[in-house]
Amino acid sequence: MAKISFEFPDGSVKEFDQGVTTEDIAKSISISLAKKSVAGKIDGKMVEIDLPLEKGGKIEIVTKDTEDGLKVLRQTASQLLKAALADQFNNIQFGESTSDEDGFFVDTDKRDSQVSADELPQVEERINKMVSDNVKIERKVLSLEDALKQVDGDPYQAKLVNELAEDGQVVFYQIGDYLGLGEGVVLPEAKAVKEYKLLSVAGAYWEGKSSNPMLQRIFATAFYKKADLEEDLKRRQEAKERDHRVIGNKLDLFFVDPKVGAGLAYWMPNGATIRRVVERYIIDKELANGYQHVITPVLMNLDAYKTSGHWQHYREDMFPPMDMGDGEELELRPMNCPSHIQIFKHHIRSYRELPMRIAELGMMHRYEKSGALSGLQRVREMTLNDGHTFLRLDQIQDEFKKVLGLMVEVYKDFDIKNYHFRLSYRDPKNTEKYFDDEEMWSKSQSMLKGAMDDLGLDYVEAEGEAAFYGPKLDVQTYTAMGNEETLSTIQLDFMLPERFDLHYVGEDGEEHRPVMMHRGLVSTMERFIAYLIEVYKGAFPTWLAPKQVKVIPVSMEKYGDYAKKVNSKLAALGIRTSVDDRNEKMGYLIRDAQTNKIPYTIVVGESEMNSNQVSVRKYGEQDSESLSLDDFIKEIQEDISNYSRE
Ligand code: ATP
Ligand code: ZN
Repeated sequence: MAKISFEFPDGSVKEFDQGVTTEDIAKSISISLAKKSVAGKIDGKMVEIDLPLEKGGKIEIVTKDTEDGLKVLRQTASQLLKAALADQFNNIQFGESTSDEDGFFVDTDKRDSQVSADELPQVEERINKMVSDNVKIERKVLSLEDALKQVDGDPYQAKLVNELAEDGQVVFYQIGDYLGLGEGVVLPEAKAVKEYKLLSVAGAYWEGKSSNPMLQRIFATAFYKKADLEEDLKRRQEAKERDHRVIGNKLDLFFVDPKVGAGLAYWMPNGATIRRVVERYIIDKELANGYQHVITPVLMNLDAYKTSGHWQHYREDMFPPMDMGDGEELELRPMNCPSHIQIFKHHIRSYRELPMRIAELGMMHRYEKSGALSGLQRVREMTLNDGHTFLRLDQIQDEFKKVLGLMVEVYKDFDIKNYHFRLSYRDPKNTEKYFDDEEMWSKSQSMLKGAMDDLGLDYVEAEGEAAFYGPKLDVQTYTAMGNEETLSTIQLDFMLPERFDLHYVGEDGEEHRPVMMHRGLVSTMERFIAYLIEVYKGAFPTWLAPKQVKVIPVSMEKYGDYAKKVNSKLAALGIRTSVDDRNEKMGYLIRDAQTNKIPYTIVVGESEMNSNQVSVRKYGEQDSESLSLDDFIKEIQEDISNYSRE
C-alpha cells in the first residue's frame, strides 16, 4: 500500500498507509490522545476524525480542550439541531448556521410562521433522542449539481451551497433521514452532544442586510463537560441581569426602535442626564489638560473623504453620499479626523503651537450591519469623545504617555478596573490593507512599544489589528456577555498629514510635516454609557445618577411644605432631587426609590421638621440616619465630588 507522511507540530515526521484516519494517527501516538481528539488539521484545513486521508502534509490533532475542538462539537450540535428542526417542521428553510466562542446558532425560515421559543423544548427532545440512540453522522460528498438538487426550493441553502463548493464538490452530512449541508467539520456520532442547551430565538436578517428577509435565529450552546455548560448558563443569567438594554429599559434611560431607525438611539431624560454629566466631565478634563475644544459639522464634502482615503478603504461602513444635484456631494462623516484637519489648516501653524490638541464631542455616522447593532453598544449614529493632536516626531513618546496618564485618571474616576492594553501592529504580509511606508511602520510601532515598556504597563500585541494609516493602542474592556470591546484608543497617523499636505513652520523658518495622533478617551458616548450601565448594574454613583435624591414626606398634607423646602434648598445647589408627592404608603415609596436605584432617599416627618433634620437612607442600605440638613448637604456634595463610590 502507498505510504504518505505527516509532519507533526514538533517537527517530527512519520509515515502511514494511505487511507489512514486522524483517529488512527492519534492512536499510534497514545490512547489518551486518541480519546481527546475530535478532528484533524492537515495543512491548516480541518478534517473529520474518521476521514481516510489520501495525502500527507503538516498535521495537527485537534483535541477537545482547544477552541477548534469546541467548534467541532458545536458544529456537530448545529447539524443535529437542523436535523431535529427538519423533522419537526415541514418545509423549514435554513439560513446560515455557525459556531463561535459564544455558542452556535442556526437561522431558520418557516415561511408561513416563525419558530417560537415555546417550541424549543420539543426540538430538544428530538435532539436528545438522536444523542441517546447515538445516531451516526455520515459524511457525503455531492457534486455541485446534485447538491443544488438536494436543496432545491431553499434559496438560502442554494446560495450557501454555491459559496461552500470546492472544486465542484460540496460536503453534506447524513443524519437518519436528514441530508444537510455541512458548514464545518463534525464528529461521527451524535453521542458527543450530551451537554447542550437551546437558548433563545431572535430575528436576524439573511446575510445581515436589512433589505433581505428576516429569519429566526436559534441561539444555543454546547460543551464537552456538564460543569462547563452549567457554569456558562449561570454566567448568561448574570449577564442578562446586567444587560444595558434591559436596565436601560427598566430605568427609562434610552430606546432604539428599528421602525424609526435601526441603530439610532433616543436618549430619555434620565439617560440624557447621565450623558450630559459625562460630557461635561470629559470636556472639563480635556480643557484642563491642554486640549482646545471645537465644534464642527457632521456633513462634509465627499472630496475630503476621497483625500483622506476613507472613501477608498471604508466606504461600506459609510452612509451613501447625498448628491445635491449641482455637482456637490455631501457625506455624513464616519470619522472626525478630516474636520479637525480643517481646523489645523485654517491658520499658519508654528512649531510653538505643537503639540496642538484639538478635541470635540464629534457626532459621526457609520452604516454598521444591522445584525451587529446592539442597544447603545453598537449604533449607527454616535458621538465620539474625539481628539487629534498635531505634533513633531520627537514629541510622540511624551504625548503618548500623557494621553495614557489621562486615560488612567479617567478610568479611576469612573471606577473602571477590568481592562487591558492591546498594541496593534500591521500585518507586514498584507500590503493591500496597510499604508505602504516600511520605515514609518517600524519606527512608530517601536515608539509605542517603547513608551509602554517605559511606563511598565502590561499589554498584548496584536498583529494585523492596526488601522490602515498607523499602529494603535486600544484599551480592551468586557461587556456583560464577556465579549471584549474597545473602549479607548490612541492611534498614530503619518498618512493623513501627507494626504492633506499639512505643515507647520519650524524653528528654522522652514515648513515641516506634523504627525497626527487620533485618540478617544472614553470612546463614543453611546458605547461608554452602555458599558457604565453594565459595570454599575444601573446603580450609578451619585455624581452620575440621573436622580440623586428623592424626598418623601411621611404625610404630604402635614410635612409637604417642609419636604418642598428641603428639596428646593438641594436643587438650588445643583443637586438632582424631587419630592415624591404621590398618595401612596411610605413603604411603597421607599421601595420604589430603591428600585430606581436613587442614591439617597430622604424621609421627613414631625421630628425632622421640628429640628430641621432629614432622615437619610442610602441606596442598598437597610438603616437610615438622622442628620441636620446642612450635614446632609455636606455629605452629598463630598460624595459627588469624589466621583466613584470608593
Ligand atoms: P470597532 O472595531 O468597535 O468597530 P473601530 O476600530 O472602527 O471600532 P474607531 O474608528 O477607532 O473604531 O472608533 C473609535 C471608537 O468608537 C471605538 O474605539 C469604539 O469604542 C467606538 N465605536 C466604533 N464604532 C461604534 C459604533 N458603531 N457604536 C458605538 N461606538 C462605536
Ligand atoms: Zn481620527
